[in-house]
Amino acid sequence: MGLPFQQGRRPRELTAEDVEARERKRQRWEAWLVEEKRIEAHWREVEERMNAPSYGVPASDHAIVRLYMPRWCELTRGEHRCAICLEDLEPGNKFRRMPCHHSFHQLCIFKWLRINRLCPVCQFALPSDEEQAASP
Ligand SMILES: [Zn+2]
Ligand SMILES: [Zn+2]
Repeated sequence: MGLPFQQGRRPRELTAEDVEARERKRQRWEAWLVEEKRIEAHWREVEERMNAPSYGVPASDHAIVRLYMPRWCELTRGEHRCAICLEDLEPGNKFRRMPCHHSFHQLCIFKWLRINRLCPVCQFALPSDEEQAASP
């Protein structure tokens, strides 16, 4: 008996489109790997910065997920760069805006706020778990 995934599999001739699609996929994958390395290196720096003792209190999950999610067209010119990863905010990314009107990549700000509840730009404080529990 063959392995389950081998059953019903019909061998097919690769068309030019298949080859092309495969090539595009490979290029995307490679671009992603490069990107990933760069982000990783950057995050190491960010994490070192975040390890400073003043960066101890995470924001409450509740406050984090309720952050406003602006669309690309809603971002002002001043918000076009993410102060956490220092990359541009590009159309098609997901963003979150702090109540202080600073916007970041969703991934960046979520990661940041789980370590430090202060806005990386202006130190605006999101509620911590304790404060959240205390408010009605
Ligand atoms: Zn970012
Ligand atoms: Zn801010």
